[in-house]
Amino acid sequence: MSGGDAVSGTASGPLLTPARNIEGTYDVVVAGSGAAGLVAAVRAADAGLRVLVAEKAALLGGTTAAGGGVIWAPNNHLARQAGYRDSREDGVAYLTEAAGHGLTREEVEWYVTMAPRAVAYLDAETRLSLTPIARPDYHMEWQGAADGGRSLDNGAFDPSGYPGLAEAIRPSSYFPLLTMTERDQLNGRAADPELLARRASAGVRTMGGALVGSLLASALDRGVEIAVSAPVDDLVRDGDKWTVTLGGVAAGKTISAGAVVLASGGFEWNPGGCAGRSCRFR
Ligand SMILES: Cc1cc2nc3c(=O)[nH]c(=O)nc-3n(C[C@H](O)[C@H](O)[C@H](O)COP(=O)(O)OP(=O)(O)OC[C@H]3O[C@@H](n4cnc5c(N)ncnc54)[C@H](O)[C@@H]3O)c2cc1C
Repeated sequence: MSGGDAVSGTASGPLLTPARNIEGTYDVVVAGSGAAGLVAAVRAADAGLRVLVAEKAALLGGTTAAGGGVIWAPNNHLARQAGYRDSREDGVAYLTEAAGHGLTREEVEWYVTMAPRAVAYLDAETRLSLTPIARPDYHMEWQGAADGGRSLDNGAFDPSGYPGLAEAIRPSSYFPLLTMTERDQLNGRAADPELLARRASAGVRTMGGALVGSLLASALDRGVEIAVSAPVDDLVRDGDKWTVTLGGVAAGKTISAGAVVLASGGFEWNPGGCAGRSCRFR
């Protein structure tokens, strides 16, 4: 088997780019196919750029696909439309309490300024279906806390129209096939087994899986190339370009990129590290 186009028991299919087709110069190479990488890929494609998402694992979505997928965004327009009150100042006050020990004031303000803009973009331009949840912030005793609306849930993602996509996304062994809103409404009761079975057989994804599925569909709509089992192994700065060496099924492939987005997740560490103009990933 060659070229990464049919890896047994893993993601494959026409929607993914076989390793043999990865070539030439990309405007942007994104390392990692979690929420961070896929949002970057979609946004770059909207700017008219040629984009490759190179994913190390055999399945797409990283930790994002296995998680709750809830986006925390103070002062977002969807919460306002749903009747929640919030402000930039309250968002800054709360995030300073929550993370101010590890973030500078500028970083806190940047997040609180950009998060609602990112939500507005995702809501208007992508296949994401976001809904504010009636959940309070974790620490209502902290300054600037809000009693709901900052946490955004993903609508269930139906992969019909994207053959092979459901199988390409990492499954969640932690959450049932319910949206976070549906799960909250159960109040401990069992979920409807017929609904769960219907969703499972249709490849429907919820929570983090829905976030990943919707972003992948949006990326594919825009012609983003996506490769699995193709880790970014090495990066070398070469003038105004990066030379990117891939591994796995694309072992030995070296491509050129105008920019590289490192979205390889927070649950891993890079023992190789970066030195000067070069980064080695393992
Ligand atoms: C059970 C659970 C529930 C959670 N619920 C929530 C929630 O509701 N809301 C929330 O905000 N957070 C939640 N989190 C945390 C959240 O899932 C992560 O913070 C988030 O998914 C990180 O996203 P990411 O895109 O940065 O990385 P990831 O989703 O982890 O994606 C990184 C990807 O990069 C790939 N990769 C690594 N190295 C390379 C390489 N060299 N080349 C190419 N690819 C590479 C990985 O294989 C992976 O697919 C939850 C986590 C868990 C475990």
